[in-house]
Amino acid sequence: MMAGAVRGLSARLREVSGLLAGRFGRPEPCVHETDPVRNLVLTILSQNTTDANRDRAYERLAKRFPTLPALAAARPSELEEAIRVGGLAKAKAKSILGALARIREERGGYSLDFLREMPLPGAREYLTSFPGVGVKTANILLLFSFGMPAFPVDTHVLRVTKRLGLVPGTSTLAKAALSLEPHVGTGDHGPLHLNLIRLGREVCRPRNPLCAECPLLPVCPEGKRRTKAHPAPVRNTLPGVPRNVRLEGHATGGSGGAAAGGGRSEVKRSRASLSHGEPRTESPSEAAQPKGKGCNT
Ligand code: SF4
Repeated sequence: MMAGAVRGLSARLREVSGLLAGRFGRPEPCVHETDPVRNLVLTILSQNTTDANRDRAYERLAKRFPTLPALAAARPSELEEAIRVGGLAKAKAKSILGALARIREERGGYSLDFLREMPLPGAREYLTSFPGVGVKTANILLLFSFGMPAFPVDTHVLRVTKRLGLVPGTSTLAKAALSLEPHVGTGDHGPLHLNLIRLGREVCRPRNPLCAECPLLPVCPEGKRRTKAHPAPVRNTLPGVPRNVRLEGHATGGSGGAAAGGGRSEVKRSRASLSHGEPRTESPSEAAQPKGKGCNT
C-alpha cells in the first residue's frame, strides 16, 4: 500500500474511533475467562451461535469438566452432549479435543503462555494452525487474553468497514482484519472492535442501516448515498394533525413547503410514510448474530 494511503487509512480509523467513542464511550475489555486455553475453548464455542447459547454451552462444559485435564479426557460424545445447546456440537467438540491434545503434546501441559513472548504474526500463525481456529478467533484470543494489538473482524465489523470504504467490498473477514490491524491506533484495537460491533448491531444493520442517526454519517460514503436517496421524513408539527403523519410535498428550504404554506399540501397517511423508507425487518443472518455484551469472546 502507498505511504499516502497508509496515512489516510490510519487517520480515517482514528476519526471513526473518535466518533464512535463520542456516541458509545470507550468500552472496557470483556470480563470473560482470561486464561488463554479456556478462552480458546470459549471462542470455539462462540462460532455460529448467540452469546447466550455460547455462555450456556460453556457453563455446562465447565460444570461437567471442571479442569482442563478432565475436559481433554472427555469422550467426544460426552462433550458433544454438554455443548449441544451452542450448535455444531460435533465439529466444536472435535476442535476442542484436538486443540487440547495438541497443546499437551507440544507444550507438556495445558498452557499457551509461551505465545506472550512471540511476535503477533507468529502467535497468530500458531493459533490458526489449529482446525476450527480462523483469524477472527485467533485475534480475539490474542487481543483479549494477551493484550496484543490484534484486530478481530466479525460480520458486523466487516459490514461497517465496507460501507465506510475502509476495506474493499470483496474483502473477507481475514483480509479485512489483516489490512486494518496495522493502522488502528495504539491501545485502540479493543475499544474500536467493540464499538464497531455495537454500531453494527444497533445502527448499521444489514438491511436497514439507520444512517440518519449514525455518528459515522459525516465520514461514510454509503451513508451519504443512502440518506440522499432516502431522506428522513419531516414530521408534521401542525396543530390538530397527528405527529406521526408525514406531510407530502414538504420541502426543506424549498418552495411550496407544507409547513410554510399553513397546511396547503395534501396530508396523507400511509404505512410507508411512518418509516424512513425501508422496512425495519432483520435478515435471518442478522437475527442469528451474537447480541448483548458487545464482547466476542
Ligand atoms: S452512515 Fe449508514 S452505512 Fe454508514 S456506518 Fe452509519 S449506518 Fe452504516
